[in-house]
Amino acid sequence: MSDSKKLTTAFGIPVGDDQNSMTAGSRGPALMQDAHLMEKLAHFDRERIPERVVHAKGAGAGGYFEVTVDVTKYTKAKFLSKVGKKTEVFARFSTVGGEKGSADSARDPRGFAVKFYTEDGNYDFVGNNTPVFFIRDPLKFADFIHTQKRHPATNCPDPDMFWDFLSLTPESIHQVTVLFSDRGTPATFRNMNGYSSHTYKWYNKKGEYFWVQYHFKTDQGIKNLTRKQATRLAGENPDHATKDLYDAIERGEYPSWTLQMQIMTPEQAKDYRFDIFDITKVWPHSDFPLIEVGRLVLNRNPKNYFAEVEQAAFGPGNLVPGIAASPDKMLQARIFSYHDTHIHRLGPNYHLIPVNSPKAAPEKSYQRDGFMRVDDNGGSGSNYWPNSAGGPAPDPDSLEPPFDVSGQAARQAYAHPNDDFVQAGNLYRDVMTDVDRDHLIGNITSHLKGAKKRIQLRQTAIFYKADPDYGSHVAKELDLNIKKVEKLAAMSPEDRAKATAQGA
Ligand code: NDP
Repeated sequence: MSDSKKLTTAFGIPVGDDQNSMTAGSRGPALMQDAHLMEKLAHFDRERIPERVVHAKGAGAGGYFEVTVDVTKYTKAKFLSKVGKKTEVFARFSTVGGEKGSADSARDPRGFAVKFYTEDGNYDFVGNNTPVFFIRDPLKFADFIHTQKRHPATNCPDPDMFWDFLSLTPESIHQVTVLFSDRGTPATFRNMNGYSSHTYKWYNKKGEYFWVQYHFKTDQGIKNLTRKQATRLAGENPDHATKDLYDAIERGEYPSWTLQMQIMTPEQAKDYRFDIFDITKVWPHSDFPLIEVGRLVLNRNPKNYFAEVEQAAFGPGNLVPGIAASPDKMLQARIFSYHDTHIHRLGPNYHLIPVNSPKAAPEKSYQRDGFMRVDDNGGSGSNYWPNSAGGPAPDPDSLEPPFDVSGQAARQAYAHPNDDFVQAGNLYRDVMTDVDRDHLIGNITSHLKGAKKRIQLRQTAIFYKADPDYGSHVAKELDLNIKKVEKLAAMSPEDRAKATAQGA
């Protein structure tokens, strides 16, 4: 047998027999000196790494991004510097709330993450298939996610806690309306858009900056599942979207998305009618039309799911020169939280895992040591800065231009809370068709009917505030007293909460 075909232990020692444990006598007991058996069992015992607390179930693929339109007047990002320029990428799509084995067809936002291996290091786009989010302050995030997961006593998903939180958090109405439309159950990962949801900043070589929102529009067209189709697939083929992505790429049908941007000048932002950093709002297309930038193509399946997809780690803080954060409070918190969770999940040296390491710009930092430091750990070079040994030095050209901040340091809410119902109402009235509205009401009521009456009433008042027709249809399907719904809709959030509290 040639050496290359010989089975070895993890340490390269030849294995003579991989079917029979070493025993004392043919019936055992087994001997502890069987190091091969011990190694195999011990490694197997540690095969699972911590599951992502959100976005646990996902699929991924490699590919490239190609610039199709000159955007150098907006950004100096090198990977966007020339029409025709291609950058290698790795993308991961996911559901949010379900565990690693949960169904791809669950009603849930879908994660849409793309790692660009640029010559200025890795740029991570970490978006969703929805342009808005449920909450706009990160202090609420852990509570919100708890309500989407399992009840502490029953260990089952619980419509009471799901709707109790949302109905006490009226800014969620826009995202709830998107989620309970058929867009909440995309047919496949290929048939959905990806949005930054957050506002980001782009700045050019002259130091001029712009506020931007990203829209990756699917070239396969939007396709969604109905509630019935989604439920059936969850039983018959819970991995349908994972398999669809893999099979399409194997067939040579490479999915692609056109990147379009909304771009706002600082002057336009100053007096805009709502806060442009509020993630519960979109920027209307009529005010900020989409500008094409490039094309994302996925043409390579991972050779090994764990190596590339499970270990892939995206962070909204990985921004390259030309792209910067906005003041969006949710984004600011995500910049901490994603990196933190990856360190917990994969260890402090997760940047050395091939899918995460910068391919076009080798790491030259002074970070050293830690678990699984599997490269040469900086060799004999200096492990401090400043040094006079010619070690890597900071480059002032890569600094974000300074920017003004003002106001009092305090715990403060967004300034335009009265706008919370406007865009959900627009979506219901002006964008949805009769069929969309019919499906929306059915999708909502089949879920909300599981909650207590008082919670149904409170949430239906929120739908009513977005649009009286919307609230009335939900009330009718749930057999709720419309007068009570109208009365609750007219109350302040605090009074509505009191009027529908337990025992009220
Ligand atoms: P437009 O009429 O220009 O845009 C409406 C957009 O709604 C479409 O372009 C499409 O976005 C999206 N859409 C279509 N059907 C549905 C559906 N069933 N569920 C969710 N979204 C759908 O109007 P505006 O820009 O003024 O926005 C009106 C409303 O449309 C917003 O309040 C928001 O709810 C929704 N919307 C707006 C987006 C934006 O960035 N302006 C993005 C997505 C939704 P797409 O082309 O991205 O598929």
